[in-house]
Amino acid sequence: MTASSSRSGRAWAHVGQPFTPPAPRPDGTHHDFIVIGAGRMGSVLTAALAAHAPATRLLLIEEGGLPNEDGDTILAPGLWTTAHLPADRHAAAQASRALIETFGAPTPRLHVSLHAHATPGSVPTRDALRDHPDTLALLDPARLPHATTDPHALTYRPGTLALNAAQAAVRAGADLLLNTRAVPQPGGAVRAERLTVTNTHQVVTHETHLLRARHVIVAGGAAGPALAEQHLGVHTRHGRAYRQSPHLNVPSGPDSPTLHHAGLTLVPRHGAYTLHPRVHHRDPHGYRPTGGHLTGVPTGLRRETLEDLVALMEDLPVLATSQLHLGRSLADIPGAWTALPYGDPLHAPLFEALDPHVTLLLGGPHADTLGPQVAQALAQQLAGR
Ligand code: ADP
Repeated sequence: MTASSSRSGRAWAHVGQPFTPPAPRPDGTHHDFIVIGAGRMGSVLTAALAAHAPATRLLLIEEGGLPNEDGDTILAPGLWTTAHLPADRHAAAQASRALIETFGAPTPRLHVSLHAHATPGSVPTRDALRDHPDTLALLDPARLPHATTDPHALTYRPGTLALNAAQAAVRAGADLLLNTRAVPQPGGAVRAERLTVTNTHQVVTHETHLLRARHVIVAGGAAGPALAEQHLGVHTRHGRAYRQSPHLNVPSGPDSPTLHHAGLTLVPRHGAYTLHPRVHHRDPHGYRPTGGHLTGVPTGLRRETLEDLVALMEDLPVLATSQLHLGRSLADIPGAWTALPYGDPLHAPLFEALDPHVTLLLGGPHADTLGPQVAQALAQQLAGR
């Protein structure tokens, strides 16, 4: 083992812990790799870099805590399934699954997709849900008589995956700076602003460090493309969308299947369900999420999501009950920005060189099933340089 692989890295959680950058090397760099953002993409990337390039100096920088309460990672469905995946992506999904099993503490769970018409491989919905009468009660089997199932699906918490991967990276030698905003600079430098909260609850910069790396990876989730545009002057064609996950207060158990219909996924969680509606399109630049109205009453759900749920109320009558939590304002419904690679809700996660020293890593709506593999593939590519 090399010296750097045999020691654990260090973690700085708050500004009370003094941070001194390592002494620069002859080429002026403090680190080999700096990863911006400890969501699932950045955390799995850092863990994979620590594994594939053990003798390197790694630094993972996160603006919030671990996992960040606001990021896409916390609100993602955490559903791994090949049910809606083109055949040429199955190998990538399996590679992601191996990483989810390592870091994500997954639960095997039947995944059931519902259809109005027979499709290849479909079985009667009543048969698919024979062992799950409570789940069958959520839908109208006369309107959705056909179902396809994925018996190999998993659910997991992407936040747990991010936490465990980041901790594994630190154990393998990576350093971790929390509550620090990273601002990428052209040529592989990063301005690290350590943040603190004043007694009037304002977030302010306590101290700033300029760090240089051989390579910087921007894994800031939906904020990544904007970081590239504002600070590197690189135009990207990526977008973002604000997605909400309302709560359905119907009991679920550890064996309850996940249900999918017309872009809506119902995921059993905390003994109830979380709804994950379809992401339709990128939100326009400057869009600020606002709640919609249902028969004149304000709700916390944005208009597009509300319309989708209303359209599905006959197929899934449970949506028309008071068990669906609509909220009164945006703050009542959990929501987060998700990155949309190329502005396309169907696009797989990706990485892309922004300049010779900076790479953008994007997860997005398909990060649950494909993100870990993409992060690992980038680590392998960077480690081979
Ligand atoms: P992903 O699924 O792509 O990992 P997330 O939104 O969950 O997406 O994770 C991105 C993480 O990056 C978040 O935890 C966010 O706080 C962090 N982040 C975004 N911008 C910055 C930044 N400038 N500096 C440090 N961390 C950042």
